[in-house]
Amino acid sequence: MDGYAIGLVCDKCQKDYDIRQAVNTCPSCGGLLETVYDLPRLKKEIVFSKLQTTGNTMWRYKDFFPYIEEKNIVSLGEGCTPLVKSIYLSRELGMENIYFKNDTMMPTGSFKDRGFSLAISFAKDIGVKKGFTYSSGNAGASFSAYSSRGGFHALVLVEYLASDTKKAMIKLYGAQTAILDFENFGQISVMLEKAVSQLGLYQFVNFINPIRHEAMKTYAYEIFDQLGGLVPDYMFHPVGTGGGLWGAWKGYNELKALGLTDQLPKMVAVQPETSCHLKKAFQKGARVAGQYGDPAKTIAQSIAADSPIQGGTRVLDAIYQSGGMALGVSDQEILTAMRILGKEGIGAEPSSAAAVAALIQGVKNGTVSPDATAVCVITGTALKQSRAVEMAAGQPQLQVDADIGSLAKIIDSLHI
Ligand SMILES: [Zn+2]
Repeated sequence: MDGYAIGLVCDKCQKDYDIRQAVNTCPSCGGLLETVYDLPRLKKEIVFSKLQTTGNTMWRYKDFFPYIEEKNIVSLGEGCTPLVKSIYLSRELGMENIYFKNDTMMPTGSFKDRGFSLAISFAKDIGVKKGFTYSSGNAGASFSAYSSRGGFHALVLVEYLASDTKKAMIKLYGAQTAILDFENFGQISVMLEKAVSQLGLYQFVNFINPIRHEAMKTYAYEIFDQLGGLVPDYMFHPVGTGGGLWGAWKGYNELKALGLTDQLPKMVAVQPETSCHLKKAFQKGARVAGQYGDPAKTIAQSIAADSPIQGGTRVLDAIYQSGGMALGVSDQEILTAMRILGKEGIGAEPSSAAAVAALIQGVKNGTVSPDATAVCVITGTALKQSRAVEMAAGQPQLQVDADIGSLAKIIDSLHI
């Protein structure tokens, strides 16, 4: 058998399926499917002191993905993004080891490119030619770009709440797009389930598509390599559906299973305070998050949802198993974090800055020790949400006349 992925298994009923079967959720019970690997064989056949492979994209770790023939790989150079060490936030919090995983530098400006490069490539490889997803913007842009590159027929349902730039970017990349109107996220979940059970449509929504989040394991491998074979104490991740956090957690567990480390990070899920259903569930010790809040009441639009896919159980499991937590942050905290990130050289959208806002909150209230090493995942660029950038930056205050005296006066007042 090619590759190390040996099958798909259902979270709920444990039934297994052929890895190359074009399925979304479990045909038997509707549960989520997870890819299973032959890790003992992987450990035996791949000899390395660390994850040293070739190439400058996430595909250097392709042995950890389901097998895909080389000719079907749709890549725009995604992954292997910089891990930037903080200067200013470190100084402010008295915390030496803060890192930003800068996924704003991805081909379409967000971390979604990891998942769609893999999911579209895999769909091509198993002969699926048509599919859809729904999106708050970033996923739609990424799906659109990779579908077009791969000659795949794609429909993007984009939330009406998405910024105009995001809506336009999705169209620009070439997919068919439609604005999705809804009253709550539960309504979307029902539509997605019926799309599978009644229409047999193949979809790319996080978790309902069992392959997409496999690519998010590359966070773990890349950060492990970039920290010289170390695992951070904390990983702060903004969470919409939670595919990024779950994938990273799976990746870290694989590193451990392969004997490369005996450490695992505490996973921290970050949401807007106005729709933090995971935080509410976490505070009660529950494994299922219910409906809570209003997604329209925050600038962190990419992670604004009033309920998660299938109760958010995977994300909550990762939090509990890792000893992590779920936090909520306000728009004011997010805008402050955007300004800090700007000074660090990173233009982050509000949802990404939320991860940094949560770290600040955690250190200030004493739940995160300043001696710890923390990685904040910066999931998307500020450029797609220009209104929020203006809010964070504030209005320009200085004006200068085009003469040398005025210029000299301003230069004298410079400070950092
Ligand atoms: Zn099942």
